[in-house]
Amino acid sequence: MTLEFAGNVLCSAGVSYFHVYPNGDVYRCLADYNARRPPMFNLKRDGWKGAVDPTVCDHERCYNACDLDWTTKWQVDEQGRLEKTFEGQRKDIEREVSLFLCSQRLESPQRRMAYFIWSPTLACNYTCAYCGCAAGEKRTTRDLPSAIPELTVDEWTDIWSDIVERFEYGVLSITGGEPLLSEATIPVLSMVSQKFACYITSNISRNIMEFTRGRIRPGGSPRVVEGFGEVPIGLSGINCSLHPTSKGFNWDLFKGSVLLLRNAGFHVSVNFVGYPVQLYLAPEYKAWCEQNNVEFTLSSWQGVDNEGNIAGYSVPERTFFEEIAPSHRKKANELVFMDCSYEVMLDNPVSRVRMADVLMLTGRIRNLSHTPWQVGSGPGRWSVAGYLTRIGRRKVWLREFRTSPPDIVVSHNGELEFVLPIDTRGLPAGVYEVWVDMLMDRRNWMALHGAVPVTAVLRIETFSHAIAVDADAVSLSPGGTAVLSGTLRNTCGKPWPEGAGEEPLQVGARLFRQSAKHEVVREFRAFLERLPATAEDEVPFRLVLDPGELECGDYELTIDVVKEYQFWLAEKGATPTVIPVVIS
Ligand code: SF4
Ligand code: SF4
Repeated sequence: MTLEFAGNVLCSAGVSYFHVYPNGDVYRCLADYNARRPPMFNLKRDGWKGAVDPTVCDHERCYNACDLDWTTKWQVDEQGRLEKTFEGQRKDIEREVSLFLCSQRLESPQRRMAYFIWSPTLACNYTCAYCGCAAGEKRTTRDLPSAIPELTVDEWTDIWSDIVERFEYGVLSITGGEPLLSEATIPVLSMVSQKFACYITSNISRNIMEFTRGRIRPGGSPRVVEGFGEVPIGLSGINCSLHPTSKGFNWDLFKGSVLLLRNAGFHVSVNFVGYPVQLYLAPEYKAWCEQNNVEFTLSSWQGVDNEGNIAGYSVPERTFFEEIAPSHRKKANELVFMDCSYEVMLDNPVSRVRMADVLMLTGRIRNLSHTPWQVGSGPGRWSVAGYLTRIGRRKVWLREFRTSPPDIVVSHNGELEFVLPIDTRGLPAGVYEVWVDMLMDRRNWMALHGAVPVTAVLRIETFSHAIAVDADAVSLSPGGTAVLSGTLRNTCGKPWPEGAGEEPLQVGARLFRQSAKHEVVREFRAFLERLPATAEDEVPFRLVLDPGELECGDYELTIDVVKEYQFWLAEKGATPTVIPVVIS
């Protein structure tokens, strides 16, 4: 279930709820991490800097399962007076722990205990197609914030011993990536599980015997903590994630490890993702779990897979999912089953655009859902949006584009016209696909609710030229001038873009200091009698360099073709000619 906020909401995240990442960054909640907000603090650099009092939530809604489960939110009026309390959704489950966190009060927030979600690493040895951490697929270290540098075992041990001292009680949920790839996981778990209740989610392909040979105690032996009474401590749950379609998966090793852990007294459960290519295997694994008295959970596929497919089910897949796991479907997963459907009609399914230009993709979208769409640009409203991928099998998500429609309602079978601006600045030449979909807020795409987006093909074209000048280098005295004679040819087999307005294309040169290449210190222009038509057609030009008083030193002159105030051909793929300039 998602919580929509109206007005100011204060939240206990950051006081008694934290996400701890491999480089020591601590985020207030998963919504902050996903929205690329800065971390609250870094444990290695800053030490512990958790908040003392609940602070304002600046998200429009709270939608991540853990964030909803373990934080308490308070809606307040402009004077800060309490209007409404949203208790953590875990409050009726695992009551002995959740009550202390989920039933906090604004005037007395929980500061003696906290819920921690710790990812010691975001790397993984598996290659699950539906996961953002799969080995070799996403570049975990580049694409995921706070992934590196991972802290060392010593650093983590210091940090967690400090946290264990600081809080009288806590719950630690360890996840990843694959947490057992980190050398720190077992030592930290051994230490923290002596005072806190701990849980771990793992693919159990590595280091499992450390659980049965070390000092990690299964949960279930309660400890008395003043003010809390009897609370569970130890390793209270091992969630074994079952990934049969990953490279390296070994069913016998998985079964053997589950049984080893169960027989050592740990509470073990198995989680299976209903990704379409493994969905129909679920009954086989479920049956084994039932035979062996191990809890089995079928979770719905969420997000975007490694090939760029957005999560969603066909009608037969959905029917099967509902039959096989009726009791395991969580509320948080229900968005997969919403009814969203449309038909997109593009005016131009294939478009050409010059590098660094903005293309206006136009068309209409018809609402085939059974409910009307609340369209608009504000929170909770749908608007036409698109995302760009490279054409080909791997649909790597490159950038997103949005429209800003006025507030209207589009009824069933109603149509919405759109003009979607596709800004290609910074994209290399090539063939791309634009996926046209409907988006609500930051990440709520209709494709995640079963709608099938339509694609437009986009060809980003590049231009080239050849510029020759009669000098390999230029030497100037301070305040001196020089003249370069040269020729310009059009080598791309098509006319160059002329941009808007009457201003002609010219030869343009930019002088950069060698030590600061991004900083242009002077610009020069050379008039062209006409534009070259072909690669053989040489059009002469004369470029006067009169930089005035400049510091002595080494410079670089970059010669290109320019449309004044609009573009340089280098932005559209051409390679400028560069010569050194020395002022001495
Ligand atoms: S209400 Fe939810 S989204 Fe907002 S700060 Fe709290 S946990 Fe994060
Ligand atoms: S085992 Fe888990 S973390 Fe690893 S690739 Fe699969 S889903 Fe991702």
